[in-house]
Amino acid sequence: MRKQNNNEMEKRYIEVKNLTIERTQTPKSKPEKGQKLGFGSVFTDHMLLMNYDVGQGWHDARIVPFGPITMSPAATCLHYAQETFEGLKAYRAEDGRVLLFRPEENFKRMNRSNERMCIPQLDVDFCIESLKELVLLEKEWIPTDAEASLYLRPMVIGVESRLGVKDADSYLYMVLCSPSGPYYANGLKPVPIYVEEKYVRAVRGGTGDAKTGGNYAASMRAQHIAHECGYSQVLWLDGVEKKYVGEVGAMNIFFVVDGEVLTPELDGSILPGITRMSVIELLRREGYKVTERKITIQEIADASDAGKLQEVFGTGTAAVISPVGHLKWGDKVMTINNEEIGPISMHLYQELTGIQWGRIQGPEGWSMEIGRM
Ligand SMILES: *Cc1c(COP(=O)(O)O)cnc(C)c1O
Repeated sequence: MRKQNNNEMEKRYIEVKNLTIERTQTPKSKPEKGQKLGFGSVFTDHMLLMNYDVGQGWHDARIVPFGPITMSPAATCLHYAQETFEGLKAYRAEDGRVLLFRPEENFKRMNRSNERMCIPQLDVDFCIESLKELVLLEKEWIPTDAEASLYLRPMVIGVESRLGVKDADSYLYMVLCSPSGPYYANGLKPVPIYVEEKYVRAVRGGTGDAKTGGNYAASMRAQHIAHECGYSQVLWLDGVEKKYVGEVGAMNIFFVVDGEVLTPELDGSILPGITRMSVIELLRREGYKVTERKITIQEIADASDAGKLQEVFGTGTAAVISPVGHLKWGDKVMTINNEEIGPISMHLYQELTGIQWGRIQGPEGWSMEIGRM
């Protein structure tokens, strides 16, 4: 066992050694403590790139100064949206440890998305090792403010120059780093959600369970309308009957009905969230009854009428836990827990953020220490 581990380590070491690093000559000033960061608009000094070409496989992994990339205007990603992405964060613990949360789950999921989009598989170990190098190089960029973190965006795009509709022969893998503020600048607050009845995000057999840009392109119209009506997010129903609950924007959704925690089953049209999976595991360990099944929006409305809909919350890397204050479905408005944060939502938020920022010990393997400040 030990021997095998050593070999593994050696192999990784050799692979990461193939990563070249070109440092920037013009480092930017890092965010100050207390500076409002928002989400995803500030980028660090460096990024990671790696190419793929048929016959060659993945090659030329490199960390280079952050900046524009060049590609053909006929690149397949620009025309036919052949791309996948991921989202995770690097956290700075109070004692100076630099932590990642279950990163192997992100790269395993990226490979499942890649499979769906005909993009070549990545080496999960190499992705994690090279990510560590990048994050440690950029560690001064990890914000020190409470609940702020360094958001990491791995992505793969098809870059072959050809207008014919076919999966590309060449790809570019990239990782961008963006210091981001707390999702809720004014603290955790229940959000109003609009149940979308006209547009759909995904259908069974489509790409709803792949993390790919096209799903977002398809969702923007409804999101735009919901915003104009004062709602922060859209709750998607299934694409066939518009009867079953799917997910919310970039979050999975949970309901607490009469003490039982319910969430839609993974039917191929919703994104298998890592926060979703972690919430289910945490609650089950604590003895809660958690059920993954088909859930109709009608039964949620009925539970609300009967006074049994205790909590509704979304889960995702960006917000962690997002309590829902009310749900609008056609003419019906369901108010949840008096628009206050429910006890399970609050508990999960504290538990997950505690594990992510290294304040509490989570289940084995959830928190990966990659270095120190
Ligand atoms: C990324 C994403 C989620 C949340 O997944 P996490 O792994 O928990 O961050 C949920 N829905 C969609 C559509 C997503 O793209």
